[in-house]
Amino acid sequence: MGGSPGARGAGEHPSPVVRVGTGYDSHRFDPRRPLKLGGVHFPGSPGLSGFSDGDAVAHAVIDALLGATCLGDIGTHFPPGEEAWRDADSMELLAASVAMLRGEGWAVGNVDVTVICERPRIGPRAAEMRARLAERMGVRAGAVSVKGKSNEAMGWIGRGEGIAVHAVATVVRASRS
Ligand SMILES: [Zn+2]
Repeated sequence: MGGSPGARGAGEHPSPVVRVGTGYDSHRFDPRRPLKLGGVHFPGSPGLSGFSDGDAVAHAVIDALLGATCLGDIGTHFPPGEEAWRDADSMELLAASVAMLRGEGWAVGNVDVTVICERPRIGPRAAEMRARLAERMGVRAGAVSVKGKSNEAMGWIGRGEGIAVHAVATVVRASRS
């Protein structure tokens, strides 16, 4: 199959040049662990539970990228419970995911992340998080946005039980497959 777009049947659409994916993650606080979000350490804040290092920002971004490229989700590629991923550095998993989508002919376009928690405050560390995420994805920091929101003291986030993260990512066609 394949060939020029003109060779396609009437019901077929050429692959779009830009695709979008969303990712969501949530983790419960675990005060015995250090807090890492987007590869940035938050001293004095309780960490997040999880089989890996609990970096919910990295996890949501991975799922957004894998979603944009229809490559499954983080659990498909890095199953929790597998010894290889115990306490894994999630930013390494992010780099591995980007390598995966590059192998399929895609490049990261831009990423937008919203972190929802009552504490710690995200804003003062957002620039560092953007830089770390950008570095691991091989894009400019200007292609990565990180925003912090409180949940206005409502629900499980408001009670300080954990952190939720939403991410949206675009990928662009880097080569014809
Ligand atoms: Zn996670």
